[in-house]
Amino acid sequence: MSRHKIVLATRNSGKIAEFRRILDEIAPDSIELLGLENFPDLEDVEETGSTFEENSLLKARAICAATNLPAIADDSGLCVDALGGDPGIFSARWSGVHGDDRANLEKVLLQLKETPAEKRGAHFTCVASFVTPDGYWVTREGILQGYISKAPIGEHGFGYDPIFTPTGTTLSMAQLEAQAKDAISHRGQSLRAIAPLVAAKLGALG
Ligand code: IMP
Repeated sequence: MSRHKIVLATRNSGKIAEFRRILDEIAPDSIELLGLENFPDLEDVEETGSTFEENSLLKARAICAATNLPAIADDSGLCVDALGGDPGIFSARWSGVHGDDRANLEKVLLQLKETPAEKRGAHFTCVASFVTPDGYWVTREGILQGYISKAPIGEHGFGYDPIFTPTGTTLSMAQLEAQAKDAISHRGQSLRAIAPLVAAKLGALG
């Protein structure tokens, strides 16, 4: 049987490995997952949407159109209750500098300086999208509830992990090993929800 090719709209090798593990459980050996490194000429897609879902779909649609292959994208961020849901879709550039994880989390801690423990609730959201060249599309959301700690702790993960403690645990997300994080994370949830739809659609295309 020939393997179906899918492009995952990310240059993050961690995300590719995570999604490969999830797809392998559902459709072993039938799907070949390509990262954007296989398409060095593709330009980055601008995230001009106003929701996680819009931005996720924008990326999947653009990559699907450019490669003429089924594409999967995700968009994610941290939403803090006491900040009215911010940084939300602006999570990667909250401090003004795109991708400066340390500055971003320091800004959130500063904004919550006077906020007591019981009002430090927050969640991570991730929306995964799957788009095929025939115009089919689907999205799935994953949410992880927790709270913002007073100070960063832990060495694993990325982004806001050192200041986020998932509900029901006492460890920050940055104190969890990668597989323990995958098992509960917003991204893991959305990818696990969309993977069977991907397998079914590609089967239907077969
Ligand atoms: P993107 O969806 O990869 O563009 O991520 C958006 C931003 O949200 C990241 O740069 C991080 O700041 C934050 N973020 C998303 N997911 C996580 C996570 O699992 N841990 C920590 N921060 C995250």
